Amino acid sequence: MFYSSYTYYKSLITMYVRLVMMQAKLPDINSAIVRHRTGALVAMTQLNYSLCSTELSAINALLPPEYKVKEDSEEYYKIIKSQDVLICSKCEKETEYNDGMFYFQSISVELQLLFSLEKIQVWNCPLCNNQNIKDGSKRIIREKQNPFYTGYMPTVPKVSNFGNRLQYKHQFEKWFDIALNELESKIGLYRTDYAKQQDGDESDFEDEDDNVS
Ligand SMILES: [Zn+2]
Repeated sequence: MFYSSYTYYKSLITMYVRLVMMQAKLPDINSAIVRHRTGALVAMTQLNYSLCSTELSAINALLPPEYKVKEDSEEYYKIIKSQDVLICSKCEKETEYNDGMFYFQSISVELQLLFSLEKIQVWNCPLCNNQNIKDGSKRIIREKQNPFYTGYMPTVPKVSNFGNRLQYKHQFEKWFDIALNELESKIGLYRTDYAKQQDGDESDFEDEDDNVS
């Protein structure tokens, strides 16, 4: 999901300005977060990508260690990857699907005539070592459900890795979407935990919310 329309960012900015008002009683870190988030959204409408990523980094820097989003592309893509498994026909255990697991196996002359093939692709179950036929194996692909938060975000895409500005724009928007969502999830968590820690402040916070709307 890419959000690139100016109206979308503008409505988000309005929403965040409202949040600033709501959070008058929360500590300074919160208003700084909202300020940087607004800055990031404005920078996005101006296509100022470097400022935009700086603003998001500033939010992450403000968050206490246990609420920071870790910057690690490899880990992020590993977590969001849908789960793809093959089932062994003998022990019925799941094995993660990967293209490198298959090899060719010659088949008997009778079968060669029957299937008009000399070899078939097979894989060995790492648990019971049973040899399974690739095309006959049961395969399950489980997609991740949205919204889905990983606690990780990919590193900021580098301009030099893209052939043209439009490609970079798309890539940056994709990154921005992920980074902002992951940060939002941590900010929400932090805010909830903070509210819980404050004796009686939680009700004050709700009252304020009502006043604003
Ligand atoms: Zn097996």
